[in-house]
Amino acid sequence: MLMTCAHCGREFSATNLNRKYCCNSCNVLASYARNGRPGERAAKLAEAKKRLAAEAKKLATTRKSAITTKDLLLT
Ligand SMILES: [Zn+2]
Repeated sequence: MLMTCAHCGREFSATNLNRKYCCNSCNVLASYARNGRPGERAAKLAEAKKRLAAEAKKLATTRKSAITTKDLLLT
Protein backbone atom coordinates (compact mmCIF):
# COMPACT_ATOMS: atom_id res chain seq x y z
CA MET A 1 0.00 0.00 0.00
CA LEU A 2 1.24 3.49 -0.88
CA MET A 3 1.79 5.79 2.06
CA THR A 4 3.20 9.26 2.62
CA CYS A 5 6.22 9.66 4.85
CA ALA A 6 5.31 11.62 7.98
CA HIS A 7 8.71 13.30 7.92
CA CYS A 8 9.73 14.10 4.34
CA GLY A 9 6.34 13.66 2.67
CA ARG A 10 7.69 11.22 0.07
CA GLU A 11 5.43 8.41 -1.05
CA PHE A 12 6.59 4.94 -0.27
CA SER A 13 5.11 1.49 -0.41
CA ALA A 14 4.67 0.25 3.12
CA THR A 15 4.81 -3.42 3.88
CA ASN A 16 3.72 -2.70 7.41
CA LEU A 17 0.79 -0.33 7.99
CA ASN A 18 2.33 0.80 11.27
CA ARG A 19 5.16 2.39 9.36
CA LYS A 20 4.97 6.17 9.22
CA TYR A 21 8.29 6.94 7.56
CA CYS A 22 9.81 6.02 4.22
CA CYS A 23 13.14 5.04 5.69
CA ASN A 24 14.97 4.64 8.95
CA SER A 25 16.68 8.01 8.67
CA CYS A 26 13.31 9.77 8.43
CA ASN A 27 12.20 7.85 11.49
CA VAL A 28 15.32 8.96 13.37
CA LEU A 29 15.13 12.57 12.14
CA ALA A 30 11.46 12.78 13.12
CA SER A 31 12.26 11.53 16.61
CA TYR A 32 15.09 14.10 16.83
CA ALA A 33 12.61 16.80 15.84
CA ARG A 34 10.30 15.64 18.61
CA ASN A 35 12.77 15.06 21.41
CA GLY A 36 15.91 16.91 20.36
CA ARG A 37 19.13 15.28 19.26
CA PRO A 38 20.91 13.14 21.80
CA GLY A 39 23.34 15.32 23.70
CA GLU A 40 21.56 18.50 22.63
CA ARG A 41 20.04 19.03 26.04
CA ALA A 42 23.36 18.42 27.75
CA ALA A 43 25.07 20.86 25.39
CA LYS A 44 22.42 23.50 26.07
CA LEU A 45 22.81 22.95 29.80
CA ALA A 46 26.57 23.31 29.61
CA GLU A 47 26.13 26.49 27.57
CA ALA A 48 23.73 27.92 30.16
CA LYS A 49 26.12 27.02 32.95
CA LYS A 50 28.99 28.73 31.12
CA ARG A 51 26.89 31.86 30.62
CA LEU A 52 25.92 31.89 34.29
CA ALA A 53 29.53 31.52 35.38
CA ALA A 54 30.55 34.40 33.10
CA GLU A 55 27.73 36.52 34.49
CA ALA A 56 28.77 35.75 38.06
CA LYS A 57 32.37 36.61 37.24
CA LYS A 58 31.29 39.90 35.70
CA LEU A 59 29.20 40.67 38.76
CA ALA A 60 32.08 39.87 41.08
CA THR A 61 34.47 42.18 39.24
CA THR A 62 31.99 45.07 39.09
CA ARG A 63 31.33 44.65 42.78
CA LYS A 64 35.00 44.64 43.59
CA SER A 65 35.47 47.93 41.79
CA ALA A 66 32.33 49.42 43.26
CA ILE A 67 33.10 48.51 46.86
CA THR A 68 36.50 49.70 47.97
CA THR A 69 38.25 49.02 51.25
CA LYS A 70 37.24 52.54 52.29
CA ASP A 71 33.61 51.57 51.89
CA LEU A 72 34.17 48.54 54.05
CA LEU A 73 35.83 50.62 56.78
CA LEU A 74 32.87 53.01 56.85
CA THR A 75 30.37 50.27 57.63
ZN1 LIG B 1 10.82 10.12 4.52
